[in-house]
Parts: sequence; C-alpha cells; structure tokens
Amino acid sequence: MFLKDLLFPKFCLGCGTLGTYICPKCQRLLRYLNRDTCFYCKKASLYGLTHPICLKKFNVDGVVSIFYYNNLLKKIIKNVKYRLVTEAWKDLTRMIKPESIGRIAFYKKLSRDLFLQPIPLFKTKIRERGFNQAFLIAKFFQTFLEFSISDFLVRVKETFPQAELKTKRDRYQNLRGAFKVRPEYRSALAGSNIILIDDVITTGSTAKEAGKTLKKAGANKVYVLAIAKG
Ligand SMILES: [Zn+2]
Ligand SMILES: [Zn+2]
Repeated sequence: MFLKDLLFPKFCLGCGTLGTYICPKCQRLLRYLNRDTCFYCKKASLYGLTHPICLKKFNVDGVVSIFYYNNLLKKIIKNVKYRLVTEAWKDLTRMIKPESIGRIAFYKKLSRDLFLQPIPLFKTKIRERGFNQAFLIAKFFQTFLEFSISDFLVRVKETFPQAELKTKRDRYQNLRGAFKVRPEYRSALAGSNIILIDDVITTGSTAKEAGKTLKKAGANKVYVLAIAKG
C-alpha cells in the first residue's frame, strides 16, 4: 500500500465501500450500451452515424458512447466531479472492457488524421475543479485511437445545465455562442475531421453546439464520443 492510500483512503464512488473508486460489485451493475442510435431522430443507426436524412448543415456526423447513463453511473460521475480526483477518472476508464471498445474501432478506420477534441470548460470551472474531465477521457481514448488531442475550441461563456432551464428560449440562449475556435488554429481546423470528447451526453445540446461551432469554422466531419449516454 502507498502512503497516499493511507492518507486519502479510496472509497467506492457508487456504494462507499473502502478500497477502490469503483468496487467490483458496482462494476457489475454498469451497463454497456449495445445499441447505437442517431443523434437527431434517436432511431437505431449503425455505429451511431447520423442518418443522411437527419444530417442537416452543421449537424454532427455521429455519436457513440460506452455506457448507458444509469443511476449508479450518475452517482459515480457526480461524485467524481465534486471529489476533484483525477485518479477516479482513471479507475473508471481502466475498467472498461476491451471488447466494448470494438464499436469505437470503427472510428479509427474513418480517417488517418482525426483530432480528439475535449469539450472545453469555462475558465472559472477549470479553476474550481483543477482539471477538465473531458481532457482525461480524451487521454484514455487516445491510448487506442492514437489521434492527437487538439485545443481548437474554447468555452467563452458560463453555461447552466440544460435540464435546469425551463423554457426552450432559455435553453437556446444558454448555449448560443458558448464556444469559439481559437484564432491561431483556424487554418489547422479547416477541412479536418474531429471527434469531440465528453463525459456524459444527456440532451446532447452542448455537443451539438460545439460541433456546430467547429463546422462553421470549416471542420469537415465532426463525431462525438462519450463515456455515457442518457
Ligand atoms: Zn461500490
Ligand atoms: Zn436519424
């Protein structure tokens, strides 16, 4: 046992058992997604690719995630966010079964040069948390997707969780203009293919807004890859 484990003992983020961040019992309760759907019409679609008929201008081209966002994972991810522990993210990604990654291997074949772009956090959020969890997740996916991690996007607006907003107008205003492309990367971005990386996708509106920003700035294809989807 390491000294740091004695000073900061690990508790399961799902049930509180001492020893690991995600205990074997909780690991068994996590559900792998085995059916991919279109981001727009929610109907089945191979590899989560957006149906041609659903692919409007500036829409993202596909979305795929590993787990179903059930109550246990909700609890784990909420706890990870507030405990400020990067180790817990590493534990969560480490226990992902290699066979579940097979679905994502498709994205590896799409292009030789794709960028992994973590969904950026607003600067005050990074200061609070100390890290961007999407960046840690991108690092994890990079171990088998082998693409570079890009820093094309910046979050220029503090946003609220979409679920907390009541009217359609509020939700629209909340995310509108939330992201910008860094001017120094405009030429690198033009014509490139990108996989946006996020922790959880619920309404999907954040990823859609980020995707729209990238496409308006000249990105060719934009996909979304997340740990969990609601
Ligand atoms: Zn547990
Ligand atoms: Zn569709």
